[in-house]
Amino acid sequence: MKDIIQAIVIRSTGSWYKTRDDEGKIYDCRLKGKIRLQELKSTNPVAVGDRVEIQLGTENDSHSILGVLPRKNYLLRKSVKLSSQVHILCSNIDQLIIMACLTHPFTPLGYIDRALVSAEAYHIPALIVFNKLDLIHQEGLEKKLKDYLSVYSSIGYPCLSFIASDPNYKSKAIDLLKDKTSFVIGHSGSGKSSFINLAEPELKLKTGAISHYSEKGKHTTTFAEMFPLSFGGYIIDSPGFKEMTLTGFERNEVSHYFPEMRKLLVNCKFKNCLHLSEPGCAVLEALDKESIAESRYHTYLGMLEESES
Ligand code: GDP
Ligand code: ZN
Repeated sequence: MKDIIQAIVIRSTGSWYKTRDDEGKIYDCRLKGKIRLQELKSTNPVAVGDRVEIQLGTENDSHSILGVLPRKNYLLRKSVKLSSQVHILCSNIDQLIIMACLTHPFTPLGYIDRALVSAEAYHIPALIVFNKLDLIHQEGLEKKLKDYLSVYSSIGYPCLSFIASDPNYKSKAIDLLKDKTSFVIGHSGSGKSSFINLAEPELKLKTGAISHYSEKGKHTTTFAEMFPLSFGGYIIDSPGFKEMTLTGFERNEVSHYFPEMRKLLVNCKFKNCLHLSEPGCAVLEALDKESIAESRYHTYLGMLEESES
């Protein structure tokens, strides 16, 4: 009788899957036989981030993946050839860390909002790190930072200000990442690599690709890889995954991804209210009372225009 263990897929290269167990031991596995597809029709039955059951091989026999444990969430990208099918980029993400910067490069509110909408849609808890606090002070932007912090923390998103280039912030960075699987996004230059390298200098070379997140015009294949952190947890790296923008949603869905609007929807007079100019709209009323931020509503309108039907 061969041993059966559990591990996490940290890399996938077509027919081989690199997996890592809870003690940090690496097992290169193959997929043997057919894995029963779960709820989702995807081109890849096993994705990075999946917790899998493995039958350990013998000397002449490779380790083989027997099955995938239920996923708590996943990021998708459309499969290129078969547009009706999806490809799971990675799964079981504990947190989306949105690296924002109010100086150089400036992160627009719309970028943050759209990333948050995607996080809502994919059921990934999100938090916002406002980086380069030193420059905020230098440039006298404290008021702006305070406004941003109040918009997002009042909705319930954890926010913090940070200096990723300051070694004094090392333990804060570790606290944020420890024992979690994190996906860090943000514009190029916002400080993603500095932040990760501050927590885990060992990752320096490997996460070099992270700074290419928002490079335009590159047709790299989108794949994901997970890097274990020495203090526990993983960083997901996906160089080709440029923006956390969601497409293909329906008009009526959009407000569901804005938590401060979502909780008001039952109070709108019309069930299919789009919160544009309908009478008895609870969202417009809240906007009027400034309990919904104008910037958030602005992003909402933009997304509504891009939505289907
Ligand atoms: P990435 O492209 O998002 O990975 O950004 P990087 O980590 O490469 O950072 C871009 C530049 O900003 C680098 O020159 C960093 O040294 C600098 N940087 C990162 N964080 C901070 C910060 O908190 N304060 C200041 N002043 N510079 C920072
Ligand atoms: Zn309404």
